[in-house]
Amino acid sequence: MHFETEAIRTQTERTQFQEHSTPLYLTSSYVFEDAEDMRASFAEEKERNIYSRFTNPNTSEFVEKITRMEGAEAGFAFATGMSAVFSSLAALLNSGNHIISSRAVFGSTHSLFTKFFPKWNISHSYFKVNEVEKLESLIRPETKIIFAESPTNPGVDILDLELLGQIAKKHDLILIIDNCFATPYLQNPIKFGAHLVIHSATKLIDGQGRVLGGVTVGNADLVRDIYLFSRNTGPALSPFNAWVLSKSLETLPVRLDRHCKNALKLAEFLEKQANAEKVKYPFLKSHPQYQIAKKQMKAGGNIISFEIKGGLEAGRKFINAIKLCSRSANLGDTRSIVTHPASTTHSKLSEEERLEAGISVGLVRISVGLEHPNDVIADLKQALNSIE
Ligand SMILES: *Cc1c(COP(=O)(O)O)cnc(C)c1O
Repeated sequence: MHFETEAIRTQTERTQFQEHSTPLYLTSSYVFEDAEDMRASFAEEKERNIYSRFTNPNTSEFVEKITRMEGAEAGFAFATGMSAVFSSLAALLNSGNHIISSRAVFGSTHSLFTKFFPKWNISHSYFKVNEVEKLESLIRPETKIIFAESPTNPGVDILDLELLGQIAKKHDLILIIDNCFATPYLQNPIKFGAHLVIHSATKLIDGQGRVLGGVTVGNADLVRDIYLFSRNTGPALSPFNAWVLSKSLETLPVRLDRHCKNALKLAEFLEKQANAEKVKYPFLKSHPQYQIAKKQMKAGGNIISFEIKGGLEAGRKFINAIKLCSRSANLGDTRSIVTHPASTTHSKLSEEERLEAGISVGLVRISVGLEHPNDVIADLKQALNSIE
């Protein structure tokens, strides 16, 4: 069936009440018929719910939807995007293993690689987003995983998923893509050779800034390892959040169509502004990886980055002049959000560290929401004018 239909009609079985919309199953555990039923259930001879740290009807419905939307075989849902990243990697890696990752990854993923994995003797090497061809030279006998995000946060760069898929296949490595900025609606990395796809459901999947969540889908054998690790270590998504997220998926295609339309309009406006430079949006012809974006994405997403002329001080003034948009660290909300990493989230980094992460002093990131685009444009216009 079509994506839109899967998003709406993938549903757990109705109860005796014949409810139309899936109810919320707030139960920590489930009951058994007899000793034999309990034995067989724990032995996994039958597929059924035992305890909500393992599975729950609401989390199963959410996982089933994302699995179908991504063209995956299986999945598991987590309390946050970061618990999806951590638990998936921790389940698959052994002491001594090595990860090759794009440098342009989410800040906490970077911390995981640099601060925490070394404690368990797991090392990493970074490649730059514009140097994917150098990736092969980083492969070692102990390399197990290639990890990347596309589009990247906050630089909105695009990595060639097909090329990554070919390299992973050639060297028998597991390719994991954090697909958060694209959602399953705009891009399906499994089609290009990814073995696992991770989402922070907190962002566009919820889309309304209400709940945290994460999910990993992909190859059934790998997901089985991730499931066994997770059912014992406890990062499961709460049934309530799963219920919210599954509802959110029903409207993902229509929300995303509008997010992308608004973002393209805003990006075209920014391109014409004298004090906004290097406007980057995947579906702008001027984007350095426009052709790759067109190949692998259905539309450009809702994130735009640009450089404000005048550096740090101008960035600070711009952020302070914003009236309608929110100053917030989140993204993928109905409300448009503007961030200036150099004066806020990344102000503690040295200039070298910032540039390495692709953050110049003037970089501004906009998560385009669902307000009328002309109102968002008017807000950005008055804020840009105020810095002169
Ligand atoms: C937000 C984000 C995460 C982490 O998700 P949480 O739900 O906040 O834990 C991971 N990757 C990307 C690209 C993100 O934007």
